[in-house]
Amino acid sequence: DAVNRVIAGGAADWPQAGVSGPPLVELEKVNKRFGDLHVLKNIDLAVFAGEVVVIIGPSGSGKSTLCRTINGLEAHDSGTICMAGKPLPTDGRNLARLRADVGMVFQSFNLFAHKTVLENVTLGQIRVRRRKRAEAERRGMALLDRVGVAEQAGKYPAQLSGGQQQRVSIARALAMDPKVMLFDEPTSALDPEMINEVLGVMTALAGTGMTMLVVTHEMGFARRAADRVAFMADGEIVESGAPERFFDSPTSERARDFLSKVL
Ligand code: ADP
Ligand code: MG
Repeated sequence: DAVNRVIAGGAADWPQAGVSGPPLVELEKVNKRFGDLHVLKNIDLAVFAGEVVVIIGPSGSGKSTLCRTINGLEAHDSGTICMAGKPLPTDGRNLARLRADVGMVFQSFNLFAHKTVLENVTLGQIRVRRRKRAEAERRGMALLDRVGVAEQAGKYPAQLSGGQQQRVSIARALAMDPKVMLFDEPTSALDPEMINEVLGVMTALAGTGMTMLVVTHEMGFARRAADRVAFMADGEIVESGAPERFFDSPTSERARDFLSKVL
């Protein structure tokens, strides 16, 4: 019912991204190599404000590298990446600002193990957003309540289930008031019974107009929540389109082959 509370909640309580204009995230001819390995090949991708774009594709196709490149954790070799029309910064100070604007949720939760749940959702607000502790805690508690883990605020991450930890990770990212949220296989490390509670929070977030780029193997979620699905294989976006179109009549052989294995 934690999830139901989230779904029922009004949009006004979430950090909002919803502005119109140029794509919030835009990649043009982006290339990335690890030595001889060409991991991102001429990637073109635009995510508009309020859109949910789901990226699917086989393991090793470059999905995580794409996410890490967008939030500046990896440098790209050529091409341009723009956030709200501005090229991605490369210097340290602006890169930190970029990361604050791009919320990231990883497969492996990545919470601070030696900090409480509440500290996890307040530290960034205090250090990066320069909020007073009391305000950071108030906002943090509101977000923990939103994702249904307010009663865990004083605990340490290891005392929580995987699903609870991942919901804290989402709250921690949202606490920074990101312009866009990136999710890299957020449910892949979870026991099956916990997958839906995390997908429910993500669905609720999408419903508020948050701009989201989601890498996932959850095809049901992709079909329900995505405005657009992009299929990646071997470092390329092979095809993209509306979820119904993609799932019901994929045009590429590689997508058909992938879907026949996962559906
Ligand atoms: P996916 O997330 O789709 O599974 P990744 O982006 O993790 O794919 O990886 C794409 C390819 O790049 C894989 O062949 C992987 O082994 C390689 N790769 C990823 N990160 C690095 C790295 N830091 N150094 C060298 N190779 C890497
Ligand atoms: Mg990956």
